Amino acid sequence: MLAKIIDGKSLAAVVRAAQKSAIDSLAARGIRPGLAAILVGNDPASRVYVRNKARACEETGVRSETHEFPDDVSETVLLERVLQLNADPRVHGVLVQLPLPPHLDSSRVLAAISPTKDVDGFHAANLGALLQGRPGFVPGTPAGVMRMLEHAGVPIAGRHAVIVGRSTIVGKPLALLLLQKDATVTICHSKTAGLATLTRSADILVAAVGRAKLITGNMVKPGACVIDVGINRMADGKLAGDVDFESAKETAGWITLVPGGVGPMTVAMLIVNTVHAAELSIG
Ligand code: NAD
Repeated sequence: MLAKIIDGKSLAAVVRAAQKSAIDSLAARGIRPGLAAILVGNDPASRVYVRNKARACEETGVRSETHEFPDDVSETVLLERVLQLNADPRVHGVLVQLPLPPHLDSSRVLAAISPTKDVDGFHAANLGALLQGRPGFVPGTPAGVMRMLEHAGVPIAGRHAVIVGRSTIVGKPLALLLLQKDATVTICHSKTAGLATLTRSADILVAAVGRAKLITGNMVKPGACVIDVGINRMADGKLAGDVDFESAKETAGWITLVPGGVGPMTVAMLIVNTVHAAELSIG
């Protein structure tokens, strides 16, 4: 079987374009949605991610600003900036690009972001709302994965979804979103025994690990939907996902690309959240 590609890049463009009418009505009320990103240090991947988010914002009509700090910035200085941004009426969304250097406590920094500006959805108040099924900001990557499944018409209710990776930013929130849509969810991680047996039972298989080509075609159930969240920089400088695309596409029913899959959707959902935060700011 040759899998259908779920094209994250073009779907992301559609999602962003759909924000136009909301942005226009905000403009009529004198408001331009604004996103502030905090970037600490010189990690090349983090710089690329922040630049991509800023570019996508500007293309969509969202104002963006980047607040850069050196690697050795103190937590106090960082927290002060977060509080300033919380109080700035031109800023509707605040994000801190992760990971932070080890001397900074990322959970303390994230906790300082006002939940009403937490457009990454990593604040405990928003993650708690997701757990309870209440409204709140949902992290962009899992929200983007859900949008891709819906767009492709992948059946979810009653199906077995296997997520490989249990991080707070991808695996766990995605499990909650899939549960909300009545999937039966299994989360696998580094200590899971018999990974291939579990992945082969998945109707929806999501890889969010950070290990290139961990998931091979023989780990995929025929006809399954395979979503590759992983982004790995290879020795030749190219990006690869956690899924061995060449072998998996022969077995899967749907599959995503890296690059051009979940990554652009993550950014698009961040923009959706920022526009929504701007709407909420005026009630
Ligand atoms: P993380 O390091 O926080 O978590 C990785 C998870 O993988 C852990 O839960 C760990 O238990 C599990 N794991 C490690 N080795 C394993 C193995 N051999 N078998 C099964 N599970 C194993 O990572 P993260 O922040 O969730 O990111 C995961 C990947 O997704 C990374 O490549 C990251 O760059 C990428 N990512 C992409 C996007 C996007 O927009 N496309 C967004 C976030 C993260």
